[in-house]
Amino acid sequence: MLDYVGLEEDLSAEEKLIRDTAREFVDEEVRPDIAEHYENGTFPTELIPEMGELGFYAPNLEGYGSPNVSERAYGVLMQELEACDSGLRSMASVQGALVMYPIHAFGSAAQKEEWLPALGEGEAVGCFGLTEPEHGSNPAGMETRAEKDADGYVLNGAKTWITNAPIADVAVVWARDVTDVDGDSDADAPIRGFLVETDRDGVTTNEIDGKLSMRASVTGEIGLNDARIPAENVLPDVEGMKGPLSCLTQARYGIAWGAVGAARDCFETARDYQRDRDQFGGPIARFQLQQDKFAEMATQITTAQLLAYRLADLKAQGRLRPQQVSMAKRNNVRMARDQARVAREMLGGNGITGDYSPMRHLSNMETVYTYEGTHDIHTLILGEDLTGIAAYQ
Ligand code: FAD
Repeated sequence: MLDYVGLEEDLSAEEKLIRDTAREFVDEEVRPDIAEHYENGTFPTELIPEMGELGFYAPNLEGYGSPNVSERAYGVLMQELEACDSGLRSMASVQGALVMYPIHAFGSAAQKEEWLPALGEGEAVGCFGLTEPEHGSNPAGMETRAEKDADGYVLNGAKTWITNAPIADVAVVWARDVTDVDGDSDADAPIRGFLVETDRDGVTTNEIDGKLSMRASVTGEIGLNDARIPAENVLPDVEGMKGPLSCLTQARYGIAWGAVGAARDCFETARDYQRDRDQFGGPIARFQLQQDKFAEMATQITTAQLLAYRLADLKAQGRLRPQQVSMAKRNNVRMARDQARVAREMLGGNGITGDYSPMRHLSNMETVYTYEGTHDIHTLILGEDLTGIAAYQ
C-alpha cells in the first residue's frame, strides 16, 4: 500500500491493529459486494452491528463502552473504510462524529446511558439533521421550530439530504427553540439539539432516490409535523450554532483522513492495472506519460496524508482549530477527486465500469466535495481566518 514517507511505520501497536482490523473487514466483508451495492443503490445494513463490534463508531470517545483510541487510530480507521467506499466511511462518520459525539459532549447522563452503548454497538442507528431544503451552506438560516408546552416539545419543519435517515432509530435534529420568543420572527430563537426517535408520530424519513453519487449509502429527508418529544430529549449542554458546528469539525476531521484512503485505492488500482495491461508490446506502466501520472498521484496523496497526520497530533494535544480542519477537508477531498479522475483515465475503457473502483470513488467524491461544508465554504472559512474579513455575504 502506498505510504511513501513511511508514516504508518510510526503507528503504535494498537493503531496498527485497528488499521489491520479495518483493512481485513473491508477486504473480506465489503469489497467483494460493494460494486453491486453501488449499482443497486443499497448499503449493506447487515454489517452495521459487526462494525459496532469491531469498534468502528466513535472509538475515540471516552466511557460508555468506547475504547478511547488515539485520534491517529481513528483517522487510520476512516482511511481504511473510505479506501473501500465513501458510503462505508459516511456510515461510521455519521454514527460516531455526528450522533454519538453530540450526545457525549452535550447530552444528559440519561441520554448518554440510553444511546451511547446502543449506537456504539450498532444496535441502534443515528442520523444528523441539520440541512434543510432552503438552507444548505448557511444552516444558521434554519426554519425548523421547536416549541415547549406542558407535555414537552412540538417540532415542525423539514430536513433534507440526511445520511442514514431512512434506517435511523434516532435523529439529532437541530431546530430553533421558539418557546420564549416574542413577535413574528424566529430568527433570534436559539438553536438547540433534539433527540427525535424516528418512530414517533409526526416523524417521516423518506428515502431520496436517483442519486448518481454516494450510491452505497442511504440518504433521506426528515419530515416533522407536530412531532412531540419529551422535554428531556433536548441536549441540555449546548445552544447556538456551535452545537452543530462542533460536530461537523469532528466529522470533517475523519473526512480529511478518509479522502486519502479513497485516493490511495485509486492509485493502487491504477498501478496494478497498468503493470498488467500490455499495449504496443509491453505494460503501459512503462510509458513516461503514465509514470508522470503515478509520480504526481503519489506526491499528492503523500502531502494530503502528511496533513492528516499533523491534524491528529494537534487534535490529541487539544490544539486543533476548526479552520485547520477546513484546510485539510478542502485540500484532501479536492486531491482525491482529482486523482480519482486520473486513475479512471489510466484504466481506459475498463475504467468506466463497476469492475474497478476509481469511477465509483470519483463519483463519491462529488458528494464528499459538497457535504460537510462545500469546497467553496471551506475556502471562505480559510479566507476569513487568513485575512480577518468574512466574505460569506
Ligand atoms: P447550496 O448551499 O445551495 O450551494 C450550492 C452552491 O453554491 C455550492 O457550490 C456552494 O459552494 C455555493 N455557495 C453557497 N453559498 C456560497 C457563498 N456564500 N459563496 C460562494 N459560494 C456559495 N446534511 C445534513 O445535515 N446531514 C447529513 O447527514 C447530510 N448528508 C448528506 C449526504 C449527501 C449524499 C449529500 C449530497 C448531502 C448531505 N448533506 C447532509 C447536505 C450537505 O451538507 C449540503 O448539501 C451542503 O451543505 C450544501 O448545501 P446545498 O446542497 O443546499 O447547496
